[in-house]
Amino acid sequence: MDSRLEREITYLKGVGPKKAEIFKKVGVETVYDLLQYCPRDYIDLSEPAAVADVRPNEEEPYSVRVRLVKKLPVARVRKGLTISKAVFTDDTADITVTLFNQEYTFSNMQEEKQYVLYGKVTGNMLRPEMNSPMIFAGDSEDLIVPVYPLTEGLTQQFVRKEVKAALDLLGGDSPDIMPQYLLDKIKLPSLKYAWENVHFPRSVYSAVEARRRLIFDEFFIYSLAIAYRRSTSDEMSDHVMKRYSMKPFKEILPFEMTEAQMKAAADCGRDMMSGHRMNRLIQGDVGSGKTVVAACIAYYAFKNGYQSCLMAPTEILAAQHYETFRKYLEPFGAKVCLLSGGLRPKQKKEILAGIADGSYDVAVGTHALFYGDVQFKDLALVITDEQHRFGVEQRRKLSSKGRNPHTVVMSATPIPRTLALMLYGDLQVSVINELPSGRKPVQTYAVSGKMRERAYGFVKKQLDAGHQGFIVCPAVEESELDIKNAKTYYEELSRGAFADYKLGLLYGKMTAADKQAVMDAFKEGTIDLLVSTTVVEVGVDVPNATVMVVENADRFGLSQLHQLRGRVGRGGDEAFCVLITDNTSPENVKRMKAISGTNDGFKVAEEDLRLRGPGDFFGTNQHGLPAFKIADLTRDIELLERAQKLSAMVIEEDPALIGSKNRDLSSLVQALLRRGAEIS
Ligand code: ADP
Ligand code: MG
Repeated sequence: MDSRLEREITYLKGVGPKKAEIFKKVGVETVYDLLQYCPRDYIDLSEPAAVADVRPNEEEPYSVRVRLVKKLPVARVRKGLTISKAVFTDDTADITVTLFNQEYTFSNMQEEKQYVLYGKVTGNMLRPEMNSPMIFAGDSEDLIVPVYPLTEGLTQQFVRKEVKAALDLLGGDSPDIMPQYLLDKIKLPSLKYAWENVHFPRSVYSAVEARRRLIFDEFFIYSLAIAYRRSTSDEMSDHVMKRYSMKPFKEILPFEMTEAQMKAAADCGRDMMSGHRMNRLIQGDVGSGKTVVAACIAYYAFKNGYQSCLMAPTEILAAQHYETFRKYLEPFGAKVCLLSGGLRPKQKKEILAGIADGSYDVAVGTHALFYGDVQFKDLALVITDEQHRFGVEQRRKLSSKGRNPHTVVMSATPIPRTLALMLYGDLQVSVINELPSGRKPVQTYAVSGKMRERAYGFVKKQLDAGHQGFIVCPAVEESELDIKNAKTYYEELSRGAFADYKLGLLYGKMTAADKQAVMDAFKEGTIDLLVSTTVVEVGVDVPNATVMVVENADRFGLSQLHQLRGRVGRGGDEAFCVLITDNTSPENVKRMKAISGTNDGFKVAEEDLRLRGPGDFFGTNQHGLPAFKIADLTRDIELLERAQKLSAMVIEEDPALIGSKNRDLSSLVQALLRRGAEIS
C-alpha cells in the first residue's frame, strides 16, 4: 500500500495524541482508515426551500438560503446559559433563529450577509423558527455536506478538515489498494475518486456512486479473506479414521437411504479418513432426512473408537434426536446419552462422568452441552443441527471442546449461495437435494380470515381420518402477549370449534418437562391437534401429522413458513398447509403466492432474501453474518456477488496470495484475519 496511506493519523496537522485516541474509538488509526471513514448521511443544501413555503413542525429538516437582517441582544438566562436570537429573510418571508450557548458563532455572523440554514422548523406559518440550525456561509461551494458518525470529542468540522488534509497529502496521486489488473475488471471508480466524492460530493448521485466502490472493496477484502483461509487452512486431524462399511448401519434402517443421503454420509466419511480435519456443511431441505445421515456419521466415529456429540437448538429436538440415535446406534453396542437442561444434579453428574471417562460414545444435547463444563475423553466429531440458530461464537466454542474435532453442521435452511459463502465460506458443502421416496409436496393455500371456519372444517376432516394437525400462532418474538394469544386461542378452540377433539398447547416459556410431556403425547397420538407458538421446532418429526394452519402468516418470513410446513407430510400421506392472513398489501400477496407456488426450499429462500433482506431472512438478529462498516447486506447483495466472484478468481490464480501484484490485497487480508473475531 502507498506508504502515505499507512501513516499514523497523528501525521496529519491538528491531530495530536489526544485526538488520535478519540479517532481510535471510531476505528480510525491510519490515514487510510480516515479516508475510509464514511459519512452516515448527507445534507443536501443545493435546493433550498423558500421560507414562505416551509411548513413548521414537520419531521424532515429544511434548508433555506437567507440574509441576516437583525441580531437581537444576547440574553443571559442564567450562569451557563445564553440565548441568542436573530432574524433572517429570503424576501419571501422572515425566519427567527435561536442559538443556545453559541455566542462565538453568533458574534461572527454579520448583518446583510447570506447564510444557508439547515434544521427543523418550529413555530407557526406566520412566525417560522429554527432552533440551533446548522449554519453555513452562503458563499460556500459545498452544497452537499457529509454527516459523519461522531463520538465524544469529534465534531463534523474537525473530521471534515482532517479528511481534507488526508486527501491533500496524496496530492495529484491516485494510490489504490486494488491492483491494476483487477481495476480494469471491476468497472467502478478509482479509490481516489471514491474518497473525494464520498467526502466532498458534487452531488448526492456522485456520493452514492463513489460509495459503491468502497462497499465493493469492503465485500471484496472480506470474501478474499474467507477464500484465502479456505485455500490455505489444511488443518491436520488428530482423529484420522479408518474405513468401515456403512452396510450394517443401512441394514438396520426401516427404509432405504436416498442417494443424496448416502452421498452426504460418504462425503463425511471421506473427509474423516483424509488426514485433514473435516469442516462440512450439510444442507438439506426440511424432511430430507438429515438425522439419519448424522447417525450414520456418528456410527463411523463409533466404529473407529471415538466419541461424538450432536447439538440441537432446543430441548425438544435434542430429545427427539436422542431417541433416533439410540434406535440406530445401540444395536451396535454404542452408548448414547442425553444431556438436557432438565436433569437432576445427580443424574447430570453421572452423565458428565460417563462422558469424561468414555463410557458414553455419543452425547446428544442442547446448548447446555457446550456452555457447561463438559469434558470428553476424546471427542472426535461434533455435529450441529439447525446451525443458523447458533452464533458464530458458539460454533467456535464447540470446536474447542476436543482436540480439534471433525465438525459437521446440518442446516435445514436452504441458504442462498451468496450468504452461505459469507457464513460458511470455510466449509465444504454437501447438499441433500432429494426427499425420501413417496414424499408428496405439502399443498399450501393462503386464505383470508373469512375462510377460517372452512379451514377448521378441513382440519377436522383430516383429524377424522385419523391424522393429526398443528395450529401455529404468531410469536415472532416470544413475548407475554404471544403466549396469551396461544393460550386464549387454545381455550377458544377447545370450547368451540374443536370441542370434540383432544387439543394440546405448547409455547416457549413452558418448562422443559412440560413441553416434553406435550410433545410425547402428540407423538403417541393422545393429542389430535396441537396449538402452539413457533416453539415446535422445524425438525419435529410426527409422521402422522398432515395438516397445519398458520395464523397471521404475514408475520413470518417465507423461509420460516417453509420450515413450519415441513413439520407435516413426513409420513408419505398427502399433507396440507393453510396460511391465514388478512394483510392485502402487494408485498404480502407476492410472498403468499411465492410460498404457495413452490415446495423447493432454495427457491423460497432466494425469494425471501430478495423480499426481506438477510437480517429478517433468518428471523433473528443473531444470524452470524458479519457487521460491515459501509456495506449493507440488504441493499448491496449485487455488489457482494460481484466481489465474491472476483475473490474466487483471484484465489484460484494465486491460492496463497503470494504474487507481487496481490501484495496490497494480501496485507489487507492478513490484517482482517488478525482482527479475527469479525470473521466467522
Ligand atoms: P430433516 O432433514 O428435516 O431433519 P429428519 O431427519 O427429521 O429430516 O427425517 C424426516 C423423516 O423422514 C423421519 O421420520 C425419518 O425417519 C424419515 N426418513 C429419513 N430418511 C428417509 C428415507 N431415506 N426414506 C424414508 N424415510 C426417511
Ligand atoms: Mg432435522
